[in-house]
Amino acid sequence: WFRNVPSAPADPILGVTEAFKKDVNPNKINLGVGAYRDNEGKPFVLRAVREAEQQIVDAKLDKEYSTITGVPEFSPLAAKLAFGENSKVLQDKRVFTTQSISGTGALRIGGQFVEKFIPSKTLYYPTPTWANHLPVFRNSGLTIQPYRYYDKSTLGFDVQGALDDISKMPEGSVILLHACAHNPTGVDPSKDQWKDISRVVKERKILPFFDMAYQGFASGDVDDDAFALRYFVEQGHNVLVAQSFAKNMGLYGERVGAFSIVCDSEEEVGRVGSQMKIIIRPMISMPPLHGARIASRILNDPKLKQSWLEDVKLMADRIKSMRTALKQGLKAEGSTRDWEHITNQIGMFCFTGINQEQVQKLIKEHSVYLTNDGRISISGINTGNVAYLAKALHSVTK
Ligand code: PMP
Repeated sequence: WFRNVPSAPADPILGVTEAFKKDVNPNKINLGVGAYRDNEGKPFVLRAVREAEQQIVDAKLDKEYSTITGVPEFSPLAAKLAFGENSKVLQDKRVFTTQSISGTGALRIGGQFVEKFIPSKTLYYPTPTWANHLPVFRNSGLTIQPYRYYDKSTLGFDVQGALDDISKMPEGSVILLHACAHNPTGVDPSKDQWKDISRVVKERKILPFFDMAYQGFASGDVDDDAFALRYFVEQGHNVLVAQSFAKNMGLYGERVGAFSIVCDSEEEVGRVGSQMKIIIRPMISMPPLHGARIASRILNDPKLKQSWLEDVKLMADRIKSMRTALKQGLKAEGSTRDWEHITNQIGMFCFTGINQEQVQKLIKEHSVYLTNDGRISISGINTGNVAYLAKALHSVTK
């Protein structure tokens, strides 16, 4: 039966961790991993998560089936976090939201909805983008096309390129936008640039699909990081939104996410929602209970929410301080290169701008592991290894 099944290539990101594990150098550093680490290099379970989990255990809840759209109290809370406490579209009951299998699952069911109901079946993605976006949307049956986003010469946002490309997209297409903390570049549009993007997207009659995997992680403030999404909604766009609670609640393996669609009316929410259920049911039947129960408790309880927001800020602040420490370390090593982008970029990742040859040298000569595109996960840096990293990075770039 399976004689003709060929081996597939390993996942490029997960492969970095495999290689790291095999390395015996005591100074080795893993900058490939897309998960937060504390200053000791350990995974971090948020205090609010521990507390909510304890409450759930104590409540001795049953394990009955959930619903096709998940734990009922979860979706409105997730939507409020994304769209804002005083969101007009929420007050007007114009938003359909369902629980999803984290951010990836939200993107996947969103892709399927586009394939079924948006005639162009074409989605434009920023270059570069999170590697998994491409197969997720391809597997949803969509045609995917790139638009310019990152400018290699400035190591910043190619605003002109992006606006030019958007203005040439056929009407009725879908555009994928990273709501904040763009992965892999760490480069986000400024508020004014977001306003320009919104205007051109609207002129071209394009449907925005926001991937919001890092709300709170970029600035440390969940409302600031939702600026782009909320601005687009205020401007009257009907948006699709994929939310993940992997990073901002540290619920990675629990797979907690949400998918929303802003509709024109409550009646439209009913129709759209009925179709979303038909998309979800044959894929997963329904999303799981535990993580959504944790997130719901945190979002619903003022004390837990406060503690969560403090930990979000703590994580974002540690990331920012490591950016500064790395930049300073490079200077202390005597590097004369411009490393300003390390602190200009935002979120978990930094696009260092080093080439593949330099990446390979970092791995082979210094046991510093990262993806081939030169992306480093800042969360792998701590006060104990930043000096070693700065020295290694300087030695491959001088
Ligand atoms: N979108 C982006 C841009 C991401 O970086 C990630 C996680 N690496 C995701 C979506 C999805 O993550 P998850 O499915 O774990 O929520």
